[in-house]
Amino acid sequence: MSVRHLFPALVLAASLPLLTTTGAAAAGAADLLPSGGPPHPIGSYANGCIGGAAPLPPDGPGYQAVNLSRHRTFGHPELVAYVQVLAAQVATERLGLLLVGDLAGARGGRLPGMHASHQTGLDVDLWFDLSQPRLPAAARERDDFPSMVDSTTRRVDPRRFGPAQIALLKLAATDTRVARIFVNPAIKLALCEQVNGDRRWLHKIRPWFGHAAHFHVRLDCPRDAADCVRQDPVPAGEGCDAELMSWFEPPKPPATPPRPVEPPPPPAACRAILGLPG
Ligand SMILES: [Zn+2]
Repeated sequence: MSVRHLFPALVLAASLPLLTTTGAAAAGAADLLPSGGPPHPIGSYANGCIGGAAPLPPDGPGYQAVNLSRHRTFGHPELVAYVQVLAAQVATERLGLLLVGDLAGARGGRLPGMHASHQTGLDVDLWFDLSQPRLPAAARERDDFPSMVDSTTRRVDPRRFGPAQIALLKLAATDTRVARIFVNPAIKLALCEQVNGDRRWLHKIRPWFGHAAHFHVRLDCPRDAADCVRQDPVPAGEGCDAELMSWFEPPKPPATPPRPVEPPPPPAACRAILGLPG
């Protein structure tokens, strides 16, 4: 069974108010500031935290961060550097202005809403829309940027997804720090069909639910991060195969109705960082 067949259970879990009260750190002033000390990602992408996170400035060459009121612009310094390097390349190649969505909270941990990951400061959401001008902070409080996928045809919309988006994904994927990038299956299919020349980066682009207006970049655990739980490497090959095409088939009904899944408690080493009782 593929992990995506578990998704209905995850959706159900995410809809439970339980999740935001037991899974997330209590909101407080301390949550808005990183803990001190050197960068220290702990646990897995979907259950962990980070000490010593760094803030991504809201504006920089080639990018602007959006939804600043959410305070999700913190990450491992490697992630902050990754975004800044990518944005500079986007500017150099004149692709437009990169819109940066969620990184992590100041101390990582579970974010309210649909994000199960983004917990260790090594994940970032980047929008495909490169056409926005630099906006005042109040005008960035939105996430209605356009989808790249036509929901009727279940293929990319060529008026929106074009060479600039492909160039952006290639730049994003070729950084050696990147473990994988999640995109809508229609976007992965478009890459399989349209990318000429160097295709060695395609294997890092993974099909997943949603991710039609933004893509999700996940960095590898940094080399010295002993408490950072690694994910299995992406499978070999370009991923332009039957597994990709299976995303376009109707889902098979589960044998038994999915049960809500309560998120596991955070690793013990996260309790102090997240301000949870010991
Ligand atoms: Zn994400």
